[in-house]
Amino acid sequence: MIEKRQGAVKQITSHSNPIVKEIKGLVAQRKHRSQSGLFVAEGLKLATDALEAGWGIRYLALGPDARDNPVAQKAAAAAKARGALILEVSTAVMSAMTRKDNPQMVVGVYEQQLLGPRDIEPSGTTLWVALDRVRDPGNLGTIIRTVDAVGGAGVMLVGDCTDPFAVEAVRATMGSLFHVPLAKLGKDEFKSLAATWPGTVAATHLKGSVDYRTPDYAEPVLLVMGNEQKGLEDDMAAACPTLIRIPQVGQADSLNLAVATGVALYEIRRKHLEL
Ligand code: SAM
Repeated sequence: MIEKRQGAVKQITSHSNPIVKEIKGLVAQRKHRSQSGLFVAEGLKLATDALEAGWGIRYLALGPDARDNPVAQKAAAAAKARGALILEVSTAVMSAMTRKDNPQMVVGVYEQQLLGPRDIEPSGTTLWVALDRVRDPGNLGTIIRTVDAVGGAGVMLVGDCTDPFAVEAVRATMGSLFHVPLAKLGKDEFKSLAATWPGTVAATHLKGSVDYRTPDYAEPVLLVMGNEQKGLEDDMAAACPTLIRIPQVGQADSLNLAVATGVALYEIRRKHLEL
C-alpha cells in the first residue's frame, strides 16, 4: 500500500523503496490504478495544470534538475500545502519509477476523477463527445485535448474503453485531462441520456447520409464517435437521430478516430471559435 505520510519532504535513493514500487505499479498496470484510484502524470506542465485545477495530489517526485527550477519549486510548495508528500529522487530512481531512460524532472501522483451519467447536465451551449469503446490511449488523449481546445464540456467513455488514466493517454492530453470532465457510462445509460438529450445528438458514421457541414447543430450538442476497428455499434447508432459523414476522396477507408473527432468538432463549434 502507498505510504500515507503527507505534507512532508522525503529523500528516496533506493529503487526498492515501497513508494517507488507503488508508482511503478501505477505506471504499468490498470489494476493498480483502479484499485487505488490514483494515476501518474509526468512533467512540470501537467503538475502545474493539475494544481491550478485543484486536483487531489498524493505525491510529487522531483528529480535533481527540479531542485533549482523556480516553477518546479512553486509546484512543490503548492503540492505540499495540499498535503502531498514531496519525493526528492535521483535520476536513476525517476527512471525506474517511470520506466523511461530520459525521465521528466517532475512526476506527480494524482487522484482520479470520473463522473457518472447523473452528473452530466446538458444545457445551454454545452458540447459533450461520447466515445464508443475507444481502444487507443493516444486517440483518447488527443480527443480530450481537442475537446478542451473547442471549449467542450466533457468526454463520455461508453462501454469498455481504454483507461483515460494510463500514462500514454494522460501524456497525449498535454494537461487537458485536468480541465475536461470525463464520465463513464454503460451502453444503456448512454442510450437513456441520448433519448432525453435536449439538443442535437449526432453520430459520425461511414454510412451516414448527412454531410457533417450541413446540420445546424442546435445546442447542447452530443457528438458520438465509433470504435477504431469496428465503428459505432448498430444499437448505439440507432440511438442517434443524425448520422453524419465526413466526405473523403482517395483510397483511405476512413479517417483516424481522433482526426475525425477534430474535424467534426471544429465544424460544430464554428460559431464559438474566433481568433
Ligand atoms: N472500420 C470502421 C468502420 O467501419 O466504421 C472504421 C472506424 S473509424 C477508424 C473510427 C471512427 O471515426 C468511426 O466510427 C467514426 O466515428 C469516425 N470516422 C472516421 N472517418 C469518418 C468519416 N469519413 N465520416 C464519419 N465518421 C468517420
